[in-house]
Formats: sequence, C-alpha cells, structure tokens
Amino acid sequence: MQTPAFKQPVLIRLMMGIALVILPVLSWVDYQQGYPFSALVELVAAVTLLSLVLTIRLLGLERAARCTLVIMFALAALGSVEKLSSTPNFAWFTVMPFLYISLGGLRLGGVLTVSHFLFIALCYFSLEQGLVARIGTGALVQVSLAYLTAAGLAISYEHVQRRLRQRLQTLAEHDPLTGLLNRRGMEKRLQELSGFLRRHDMVVTLALLDIDHFKQVNDRHGHDSGDRALQQIAGALRHVFRSSDYLSRWGGDEFLVALTRTGMNDARSVLERLLSEINGLPDFPQVSLSIGAAEWRPGADLSAALKQADVALYEAKKRGRNILVAAPEGQPLLTAV
Ligand code: GH3
Ligand code: MG
Repeated sequence: MQTPAFKQPVLIRLMMGIALVILPVLSWVDYQQGYPFSALVELVAAVTLLSLVLTIRLLGLERAARCTLVIMFALAALGSVEKLSSTPNFAWFTVMPFLYISLGGLRLGGVLTVSHFLFIALCYFSLEQGLVARIGTGALVQVSLAYLTAAGLAISYEHVQRRLRQRLQTLAEHDPLTGLLNRRGMEKRLQELSGFLRRHDMVVTLALLDIDHFKQVNDRHGHDSGDRALQQIAGALRHVFRSSDYLSRWGGDEFLVALTRTGMNDARSVLERLLSEINGLPDFPQVSLSIGAAEWRPGADLSAALKQADVALYEAKKRGRNILVAAPEGQPLLTAV
C-alpha cells in the first residue's frame, strides 16, 4: 500500500501562508540591501506560490506542495549564490533543511537538502571571483556546519514524527483486545481493495463470522473469560488465513474477513477448516461460529456484497448455527460436528 509523502496538510497550508507573507517582505529587504537578483527570485517565488495556492483544488494538495517545494528549492539555491558575498545574508540558507524535510518528507526533503548544499559548494569553489563576491572560507565553513546541523535536526525530528504518525495510525485502526483490524481499519482496506479489484480483475470472498451464543460464555464464565475466547478466536483466524487476507473484529462478537484473490470454491475449504479449528479450541470446546460468505467481484458494490454476507450469516444462525452459508444460493455447505 502506498503511503503519501505529505502527511501534514495543516503544516503545509500554514507554511504556504507564512511564505506568502514573508516572501514579498524579503524581496523588498533584499532589493534595499542591493541584491536585485534575490529580490526578483523571491518575487517570482511569491507569485508561483500564490498561483499554486489558487490551483490547489485542481492539482491536489500533495502535488501542489511537491511543485512548490521543488520551485522553492530552485529559487532558494539560485538566491543563495548571490548572497555568497555577505555572511549574515548567506546564513539564511541554514533554515532551508527544515522547510525541505518537514514538507517533503525524508526522501524528497533529503535529496533537496543535499542538492542545495552541493550546489552552493560547487558555485563557491568553481565560479570566478568576479562572478561571485565570496565570503571568507571560514565563514563558509561555519555556515555549512550550521546547515548540516539543521539538516540533522530536521531529519531526526521528521523521523520521530513519522514513527508517531505510524503508531497513532496503528492504534486508530486496530482492536486492542485481539490485535486485528477494527471496523475503521477494515473499511479503509476494503475501500483500497475496491480500486485494486477493478484494476486487476480480482475476486474477493467476504466472510462474516459471529460467535454462537456468546452471551452464555460471558454469563457462565465471566467477561474476562469471554475476552480470552475472543483472543483465541483471533489467534485461530491468524492461523487459518493467509497473511494477504484482511482480518478484522467488525464489532462485538462479529468478525469480517476478506479472502483476497479467492473465489467461493476456494474460500469454502478454508472457512470449513476454520469452523473445525474453532470447535477444537482447547479452553473453549463449547464455542462455535456461524459464517455467512459472499463473493465480491470487480465492479460490484461493496455494500451489496456485505449485505449478502450478512443475509447468509442470518441464514446460518437460523439453520442451527456452527455452519457456513454461502450467498446468494443460501445453501448450507457444512455442518461441523
Ligand atoms: P447468537 O448466536 O445469536 O449470535 O447469540 P449471542 O449470544 O452471541 O448474541 P449476540 O451476538 O447478539 O451477542 C453478542 C455478545 O457479545 C453480547 C456481548 O456481551 C458480547 N460481547 C461483545 N463485545 C464483547 C467483548 O469485548 N468482550 C466480551 N467478553 N464480550 C463481548
Ligand atoms: Mg453472537
């Protein structure tokens, strides 16, 4: 699954807003200080940024931010060459790693950070004295060290942020009791799967699983025992299904499984295996499942397929539980002993 590089839309909008205010001011200051090229560059940057902000709906936030960043990089790199004549002005370029890495992520931001640094070093050492009025080498070394420190800080900050985001996403999409996907996580996977289904002409079997008479387990053995039964059932699901299948606790004592690249015929044998595995749970020999399954084919509506599985599950309950019923035929396929 692809993860977008730009994870902080609020930060991107905020930085775009700040840049829109700061750039014209900087342009004016640079013009006053005798840096006409930098002033022009900053003005072009402000106009470019403004047009990107105006077309953000057309391009999408991520593409607009990527374009902005690359354009900013080109303009900032060009602007910093002219500033090689004065340490205080040149020192501004040390803020760039924060901009590149916090907006562009580790990969794109890292590439831009290194490229900007190499470009400046190359200009300093290769351009004729007349073309670039150089600051002293000592000053260049000091500002370079500050730039590298800023890059290091920006990388470690972004790294921590990325891990926090991943952790939060895991917490938001998983059920703490069983460790399976929760309903929100599963719905997201199913949405992603629906595009994949169309592109790859793939069939998926959706299986809704509900524990039989689970209230009795709670009533007779206590809620903690019921929790352990849920965990052991989740363990059995992990054991029976492939790692490419999606397993979720859909709610209460109900689970939803998506068997990817699997039609009903193949799904049937796997689901039968699950029924007998659940019947043999060492701590809960009395626990069983009812299963309703439906095929989800390319172009078919997800909610219709889910509805079919739900109707099949209802049918399984009606027919005495501990069985698998496949939609749409509604025929019982197996009655476990
Ligand atoms: P049926 O065969 O018709 O499904 O009967 P049932 O008793 O399982 O009925 P139902 O599915 O409506 O009941 C679900 C029960 O699951 C009710 C609730 O006490 C229990 N339950 C839901 N979430 C949890 C949980 O997190 N832990 C425990 N221990 N029990 C839960
Ligand atoms: Mg139940």
